Amino acid sequence: ERTTVLITGCSSGIGLGLAARLAADPARRFKVYATMRDLAKGERLLERLGGCCPDTLELLQLDVTDPCSLAAAAQRVQGQRLDVLVCNAGVGLMGPLETCSDQAMKTLFDVNLFGAVRTIQAFLPAMKSRRAGRIIVSSSIGGLQGLPFNAVYCASKFAVEGLCESLAIVLRPFNIHLTLVECGPVHTSFLANLQRPDPEGSEMRGLDAETQGLYRRYLGHCQSIFRDTAQEVEEVLPVFLEAIGSPCPPLRCASTQLLAPLWRLRLSSPDGSEYVRAMHDFVFGSSETGGDQP
Ligand code: NAD
Repeated sequence: ERTTVLITGCSSGIGLGLAARLAADPARRFKVYATMRDLAKGERLLERLGGCCPDTLELLQLDVTDPCSLAAAAQRVQGQRLDVLVCNAGVGLMGPLETCSDQAMKTLFDVNLFGAVRTIQAFLPAMKSRRAGRIIVSSSIGGLQGLPFNAVYCASKFAVEGLCESLAIVLRPFNIHLTLVECGPVHTSFLANLQRPDPEGSEMRGLDAETQGLYRRYLGHCQSIFRDTAQEVEEVLPVFLEAIGSPCPPLRCASTQLLAPLWRLRLSSPDGSEYVRAMHDFVFGSSETGGDQP
């Protein structure tokens, strides 16, 4: 019997790539429920699969911020058993903290954190009663360590990490495996979609010149990191496939070792000051020590 997989955020990026890969599996091992906010954007996925919808795929409307659409999708799928739930929908928000509007922060948490909570809530009871299932959640390197000018995004992904680590403890006796996937930079629509103020724009008005300068430098750093190190979607898919297929997947899998040295520093020096200094130097260069560091 086929493994059923429901994925959120399939109109682009990692969700689109994962849905296409699973639906096109040569051995037809999967039935994929590819969900997205706007079904009109399903064209790209169908194009990827040769223009028509194979019987290994079903497109469903699902906005993770809308409880009604979640209930409808759960109803549609729950006639079948759901083996794997992939909570992938997510959005970004960048910029000096002073420029993040209340609305932008609330929207970000509504998608990245509460969206994941709602989606898990919708499918968890059936998984529990079957005592089987897998939940895979798109976290981020920014869920493991703070990144400059991504404070609110990192806060949402740290929250996702805490949510899942806590839940995994309870799910152990239910034979439900939960896996967080931490990607670094990946070539998707993520950067184009994320909200960020233009460094020359009106949001910057009133912000101190030093922060404005740091933000400009950060944007330069970000551009070169993406240019030099960003992975293709195809390169991160194996991590998801491993979490779907392995008999006992780990709680966390990173798709890249890009920031691993900084992550280890964060763990080995738990008071955090080493990490803050090293990350500052990594992004802004070590010329600026910013205080009384030796
Ligand atoms: P993406 O922008 O291409 O895909 C995100 C998808 O989520 C989009 O299809 C978008 O329409 C969807 N989405 C947004 N709000 C939604 C809502 N309310 N309901 C349903 N779907 C919604 O970017 P991506 O890189 O493929 O992002 C996928 C996940 O990977 C996100 O959770 C993101 O935080 C995470 N991630 C991305 C990167 C990166 O560099 N691209 C790095 C680390 C983590």
